[in-house]
Parts: sequence; structure tokens; C-alpha cells
Amino acid sequence: MKIIIPHAHIINPDEFFRADICIENGKISSLESPGTLLDTEDAKIVQTGGVFVLPGSIDPHVHLSLETPAGLSADDILSGSDAALAGGVTHIMDFVTPLRGQSLTKALEKKISETQYYASVGLSFHMGISGWLPDMEQQMEICVKEYGIKSFKVYLAYRENIGIGYEELEKIMKISARLGTILLVHAEEHEMIENLQKEFLEKGQTEPKYHALSRPPKSESTAIKKVINLVKETHCKTYFVHISSAESAHLIAEAKKESLPVYAETCPQYLIFDDSVYEGSFEKTAPYVFSPPVRPKQHRELLWQHLHDGTFDTIATDHCPFTMEQKMAGRDNFTLIPNGAGGLEFRIPLLFHYAVLQEKFSLQQWIKLCTSNAAEIFGLKEEGKIAPGADANIAFFNPVKQNTLTAAKQAQQCDINIYEGLTVRGHVEKVFYKGEKVII
Ligand SMILES: [Zn+2]
Repeated sequence: MKIIIPHAHIINPDEFFRADICIENGKISSLESPGTLLDTEDAKIVQTGGVFVLPGSIDPHVHLSLETPAGLSADDILSGSDAALAGGVTHIMDFVTPLRGQSLTKALEKKISETQYYASVGLSFHMGISGWLPDMEQQMEICVKEYGIKSFKVYLAYRENIGIGYEELEKIMKISARLGTILLVHAEEHEMIENLQKEFLEKGQTEPKYHALSRPPKSESTAIKKVINLVKETHCKTYFVHISSAESAHLIAEAKKESLPVYAETCPQYLIFDDSVYEGSFEKTAPYVFSPPVRPKQHRELLWQHLHDGTFDTIATDHCPFTMEQKMAGRDNFTLIPNGAGGLEFRIPLLFHYAVLQEKFSLQQWIKLCTSNAAEIFGLKEEGKIAPGADANIAFFNPVKQNTLTAAKQAQQCDINIYEGLTVRGHVEKVFYKGEKVII
């Protein structure tokens, strides 16, 4: 049966207009002048009530059931799908993180078998590389040709288990450039961080705030600088995840001016908070232990400026919630607190409230940064836009309704909400995934 959404106020990445939307077989079959499809026979009419109609969003950076020494991250594919839908997100990109020495395809097959029947939104993977393998080139090629992988991911931090060094990075970048894939890089200087962690712990400085102090802005920008030099050499398409500091953003802006193939992502947590979140009790501050950490205020202001100037391509969440019980693993040692926080269901309203309503950027930039740019960068050709032929992934967004964000009412499976108590204007009301209405 056809579904008609009449008089929709559509916000696309390039324009804001009114139209009737016709959905057939999971696709948007046509857009017509407002009111013209109301009399369509055998159609179900879904009224919007005058709210905004957005393309289903894409979050290119999400971790579900991530294995850590404190156990799996709190959201699995089922609760993660729910959190996505609650936030108007119809496609999430998770990571396959092989154990060091494990073959890429084995890890990928395991992840596919664990998730394939359980996602109620679009799900795709960035293939992680956790160490050099003798047949790396061949393995990466198989991931691309046989499994449709379009992106790889490396960590420069966490060398003790999944991170890699710059020599390995250079070799991987050369292969990725040859395969035409994009490489996601978590850029933090491992040794600088490790030394600072040791210094703090030796002095008995064990609280969560030392997590932030052991990963200073320089630990990010130093790594970014080295990676950009490797981009010049290898021409590898490189996507910097979760940029948190001003100097890093500046280096990326300069690289873009030189037309290097670099892309950058930031996250709401770096745009909304400053490092005062690390002042207070363990219970108050441990939720903000994620990497990179939240920076002093001046960084936040400059990140907004860089968003405005186009340095950033995407705003993702790095969604990776842990419960308070899991965070307690680091009660006496900040290096044992699992790194991560949830945000998947809040990104669209948060950015509407803190950016669009405060005129930091336009409705179109909101859609570009949260949705359509990711579709373009990661080759999701039928998503990111409300247009004939696209998947019928659609979110109704009420721009007036206010909500107070709280763990008690969230879809993510976690008792912590880093946005606890914030009241934001803007609420996702209905979501269609491939033409099926999935939340009301
Ligand atoms: Zn991440």
C-alpha cells in the first residue's frame, strides 16, 4: 500500500520546501505539489501536524557491545537500534574491532553473525585494524571486494591492545589509498598519554579529572599533525574521528586549504560541555570519562567557529554508554574507568537546540552535518535526502516541543545520561525506516 504524507515541511540538505511525499515499497516514489496526492486511492494518509520532516539521520560513529575489560558497552544492537530511532536516526555505523593478530574477515564474519537479524535500522561497519598482519593487503582487499567494506579504522591510542604505531599506519594508508577506501583515525599520542597517566598515578592522583589532564589537547594535535604529513605522502582519504580541541581543528582546516583528502568529525559532548564537568565526586565526573575528554571553554568556542567555517564534515556521537557499575571499575584508578558515553538519541535535538535555535548554523547545515555529509562520505547513495528514489527513511521533528533529558526516560540501556537535566527544544515524533513507521 502507498503511504502519503501530505503538506510535509521538508528540510533537505540544500533546501526547505513543502510537498506531498508518496512512499511505495520502502522507497520515496514521488514528491508532488502540496495537496495534490490527498485523493490517491488505496493509500494510507499520515498527517504531520505541521512539524518538520527530515531525512532519517545517519550516525557514522557508534559502538554497540564493545568489548572492554569492564565488560561489553551497555547498548547492544537491539537497544542501540531503539536509541537510534528515538533520536531520528535510521542508519548507524558501528565498528568491527579484531583482537590483535586475529584475521579481519574472521572478526567481520563474527560481527555480522551477531547482528544481522537484530538491527531495526540500517547498520554498516567500519573495519578496524588492531595490528599489522603479514597478509594485510590481501585481507583488506577481501573486506572490500567480498564484504563491501568501504572504510577502515585505526587507533593511535590504546597501543596496549588495539592501537597501532605510525609505521604500521603508513603501510595501512598506502593500501587504503590503493583500494580507494577511507581510513578513520582516532588520533591521540599514545606515549604522551601513557607517561602522564603514570605520573599522576604515582602521585596518588586517581580521580576522573586526571583522565582529562592525562590526555591534553596537545596529545590530539600532535597526532593529527603526524597523520596529516602521512596524508601528504600517501594521498590516503583520511577521516579524523571525534575532534575535541581547537589546535586540531586548525590543523585540519589548513590541510583542507591545501586540498588534502581529509575529513573531520566532532561530537555534541565537545560542543556543549567544558572541562568543569570533571569537578566533583566520582559519581558526578566518571560519566564524562571518554576519549578524547572534554576541553576547557576556549576550545568549545573555537570548535563552533570551525563548524561555521566548514572545517567539520560531520557531527557524530561516538555512542558507547557504560553503566555506573561499570564506571566503578576505576573508582581508585582513572585509567580503569571504561571510556565512553551514550548520545545516539540526543544528537538531533541537541544540535537543533544549541546550534539552529542559537543561530550558530542553519537548518540546512544541521542536516548536512548530522546526515547527508555522512551519506556522501561513506557512499550511502540512497540515504541522507528526501527525494524520489531514496529509501523512505524519514523523521518527523517537532521544533517547538521541549524535553528534559534524563536517564530515567532514555531508550539507551544505561543508568547514566551525560545530558541529565538539560532541557532542549525539539523532539523526534515519528520515524519511518524504509517506509515502515517504527516509532510514534
Ligand atoms: Zn569511538
